[in-house]
Amino acid sequence: MTAQWLRCPATDADGLRCVRVVAHQGKHEWQQCDWTDPQGYPCFLPPGHPGAHELAWFARPTTPGATQTVRHQGQEDTATAEAAEDTHEFAFHHWFPISQTYVPRSRARGARLLALLKAEALAGELVVVYEYRPEENAPSSSD
Ligand SMILES: [Zn+2]
Ligand SMILES: [Zn+2]
Repeated sequence: MTAQWLRCPATDADGLRCVRVVAHQGKHEWQQCDWTDPQGYPCFLPPGHPGAHELAWFARPTTPGATQTVRHQGQEDTATAEAAEDTHEFAFHHWFPISQTYVPRSRARGARLLALLKAEALAGELVVVYEYRPEENAPSSSD
């Protein structure tokens, strides 16, 4: 009975707790404040945060042509799959990818890393740059 309530222990860089069950498949889902703006865009800060609510960057209208860089850590296929999910979501907010580059993890941290090279060589970072094009709408999905 209680096992289903065990939460994934992961926290993200901003200290948000993952709200999914322990040992879940796929992406972590970070806990957020339950406030939404009048258009229904959610606040991306943790629950009970001090100060004003803030919309996620992709939910905030900005200057046409503005760009935003999003990084996905991990192996190339995992990072690419994550980016594809984001791309789908962001397109509804008129943000479209203009470049996507996979950068293998740097070896600059020293020779000690050589021992770990086999594992390290698998990890890297996918860097996706999105551009805000308010005139353009998300392609309608047909699957
Ligand atoms: Zn998780
Ligand atoms: Zn909030």
